[in-house]
Amino acid sequence: MNNQNNDVIIGLEVHIQLTNLKTKLFCSCNNDYRGTEANSHVCPICIGLPGSLPVLNKKAIEFATRLAIVLNCKINQKFWFFRKQYFYVDLAKGFQISQYNKAGGRAFADEGKITIKLNSHKKVIILNRIHLEEDPARLVHKGSIATSPYTLVDYNRSGVCLIEIVTEPVIDSPEEAREFLRQLKSIVQYTGISSLDLEGSVRVDANISLRSHERSEVKNINSFREVERALRHEIIRQKNLLKRGKKLIQETRHWDDKRRITISLRTKEFEADYRYFPEQDLVPIEIDDNFIQKVKDQLPEMPIERSRRLQRDYNLSEFDSDNLVLDKDIADFYEDGVNSDASFGPNEYKQYCNWLMNDISRWLNEQNKIITDTKLHPHQIVDLIRYLNEGKITTKIAKTIIDDMMEGFSISEILEKKDKKRISDDNLLKKLSKEVIEENPKIVNDCRDNPKAIEALIGRIMVKTRGQADPHIARRIILDLLKQFGKIK
Ligand code: ZN
Ligand code: MN
Repeated sequence: MNNQNNDVIIGLEVHIQLTNLKTKLFCSCNNDYRGTEANSHVCPICIGLPGSLPVLNKKAIEFATRLAIVLNCKINQKFWFFRKQYFYVDLAKGFQISQYNKAGGRAFADEGKITIKLNSHKKVIILNRIHLEEDPARLVHKGSIATSPYTLVDYNRSGVCLIEIVTEPVIDSPEEAREFLRQLKSIVQYTGISSLDLEGSVRVDANISLRSHERSEVKNINSFREVERALRHEIIRQKNLLKRGKKLIQETRHWDDKRRITISLRTKEFEADYRYFPEQDLVPIEIDDNFIQKVKDQLPEMPIERSRRLQRDYNLSEFDSDNLVLDKDIADFYEDGVNSDASFGPNEYKQYCNWLMNDISRWLNEQNKIITDTKLHPHQIVDLIRYLNEGKITTKIAKTIIDDMMEGFSISEILEKKDKKRISDDNLLKKLSKEVIEENPKIVNDCRDNPKAIEALIGRIMVKTRGQADPHIARRIILDLLKQFGKIK
């Protein structure tokens, strides 16, 4: 293939906190540690005091089952947990309770897949496994991890439930990784197991190598957005080393999102260093068919099905509906809006989609907000479309009132406040057109040979009316006047 990245091999390990659980994975401490006083959500179990015994959170098994089903994984119905040993301040026990798919152990579920679309090509990203494990404590550094003079430890996060999703090394480029994560985020949102917009709810480790060279593992990329950036950087770094005749070594690197570089933390540890062995304080877990069936029956509509339904119900293109369903809140907003006006048909469905996915989404991106953080109501876009289609405002005016719409003001309130209405009054436009023709003799002369020159005259009218003139009426009037004055035929 002519893929310029075809010598790049990427595999991802995505850690997702199950933020929608009420309690931690093995104790009854509150799972929601955000904004709490450091070390206030802890108990003997999650700080690993001697003699304390973990008890598995059943809801975590249900959440993992939901995800396994929608990712098409094969659920291992019998497994036990493992201890993964390492010594570090974020791990009070000296080991993390996790799952292990060797030495008789099994992941929560094997295989699975996510289909991504990039430049209108579809590709299936094969998963290796998903498994459950506990989150370590949160470390707080002053500035960057490499230069901080101290480390603070907050055990409120210790024992929060993580689900780890491991892909096969089948990702070819940073763009593919980005698309994979976009789809994964969407699927997770629909399953209701986690809110990935919460800070710190995702962490990605990426294995990257250039074909037939040693790989590096970039640890703890703290947001999906950073992954593409970190991968790009790491690929360039590796290529540059090879260019200079250096040899790549297997190592663990850290993504410094402030300086936007990866730095070497340590040469890569090997699996044996973790001394995995079965967690004897927990009984083996068994999941029966009934349980899986019940979870399956309660699953909501997933993005792929929803996209098909939107294409059917609202006559949208595959491209539009795929974009629309990606964020469940946006798709819910869309359906609330278009269904609130019985007179809406295919044209309005498409218009609504365009306003939501272009101007509104751009605003959200720029402000780094999600739609549920704003005061925008689905009905405001219905009104906007009505005003446009009834000719009360121009598209140009519509675009200038988005800011106020996001504050929750109704269209009529905004227009009244801004004194912005479409100017369609023939007499006024005629007066303005005459002025423009007098003021711009050169452009008027150009109109004789170049029909496009009239656009410049319409532009002058738009300036005079601050964009409120109806461009169609202005065009008709200018054409009439130019003919009348014998400037064109
Ligand atoms: Zn606890
Ligand atoms: Mn892990």
